[in-house]
Amino acid sequence: MRILLIGNGAREHALAKKLAESARVEKIYVAPGNGGTAREPKCENLAVESQKDLLTFAREQGISFTVVGPEAPLMEGIVDAFQEEGLFILGPHRAAAALEGSKSFAKDFMIRHGIKTAAYQVFHDAAQAKAHLQHVTFPVVIKADGLAQGKGVEIVDSRETGEAVLDSFMVEGRFQDASRTVVIEEYLTGKEASIITLYDGEGIVVLNSSMDHKKVFEGETGPNTGGMGSLTPNPYFHGSLAEDFQKNILEKTLAGLQAEGLQFKGVIFFGLMMNEKGAYLLEYNLRFGDPETQGILELLEGDLCTIFEKTLKGELKATDIRVKPGKALAVVLAAKGYPGSYKKDIDITAYFTRKFSQVSVLAYASHGQDERILSSSGRVLTLVTHGEGEAPFTQIEKVLHEVVNPDLFSRRDIGRI
Ligand code: ATP
Repeated sequence: MRILLIGNGAREHALAKKLAESARVEKIYVAPGNGGTAREPKCENLAVESQKDLLTFAREQGISFTVVGPEAPLMEGIVDAFQEEGLFILGPHRAAAALEGSKSFAKDFMIRHGIKTAAYQVFHDAAQAKAHLQHVTFPVVIKADGLAQGKGVEIVDSRETGEAVLDSFMVEGRFQDASRTVVIEEYLTGKEASIITLYDGEGIVVLNSSMDHKKVFEGETGPNTGGMGSLTPNPYFHGSLAEDFQKNILEKTLAGLQAEGLQFKGVIFFGLMMNEKGAYLLEYNLRFGDPETQGILELLEGDLCTIFEKTLKGELKATDIRVKPGKALAVVLAAKGYPGSYKKDIDITAYFTRKFSQVSVLAYASHGQDERILSSSGRVLTLVTHGEGEAPFTQIEKVLHEVVNPDLFSRRDIGRI
């Protein structure tokens, strides 16, 4: 079986590695891939990026199915294009992709189907949005309606700051058309959880829960990042909260998707806020999260290729998902300065030439040069491992002591808070 995998991050490296474990997989083409996927058995990087060229490649090379990592190709309608040609691909078609691509669409969907979420209002006009700020209790959350690479959410604690954010989003168009419409939302407190599931068009099956650490510095301080690490399963997601999620969020989402004819075959990532009142749905993503996926796949037993095939056929069952005991810890190494300006071309070869017991090294955007691997992005590597008790923490620390690179940093409290 030949698989096409789109993306170039550590999430895609984790997917490629897990798919390659399957005896049924002959080859994985990673487009464009990275310095890590280039070294994985059965994997080949593919310098093809346009949707048209990917489609031609999939058709001509007899690709069994395609897996899409990042959201951009999904929003551009890659699933519709592949399906029109009769090609199998995991992901939402354009109509369903709005659940991730438009926060107002997602919130309205949640309300239509009785899904618990923060109270909100949608504004297309800056003057009306500012007038609304006269009647709210601060803090409130202001969100650009469209995709803004995780940067379109601001928590504001006064009318003045709120007005400045509204000017920047709606009047100056900080995220172009993506921020001309905004959602103003009730601020919730609690613990966050990422629940990653597969939807086969008939049912939604949970892969696992995870806790993501978004802030750049220890103790959850400093600016937001794409994610500095994850702990799987999420230690706060159990018991009555898990039941509340199942009954009031997952099942209602499924009923809503079926009722509105939004069936697709792919990932649904539920972003939750959990507190004494239960689980609230903050957002849907329709793709694998990074760095949650690295930990979730580390704990997943069995054949990912078969799991994806069953999803595509509408035959996935909860019993198809088996999870190893213990927990998975994923720690991101980033270039110093990230998420601000940072150095590129950091030599990360040493992480790939040495073998670490029980720890996998996954690369973000990077390229090969004379047998070396050089970084090209802010987040550079994910170290991922699993085990019981303290074992995952000591396994990661050991690697961080064995290879020291002064251009990289990581948080030492991932999974601890
Ligand atoms: P990402 O791309 O990182 O998934 P996003 O831009 O799609 O983010 P959200 O996930 O909706 O936006 O929000 C980003 C973060 O902002 C959340 O993970 C959470 O920490 C915070 N947040 C969002 N909504 C609320 C809320 N109503 N109350 C408190 N915090 C919130």
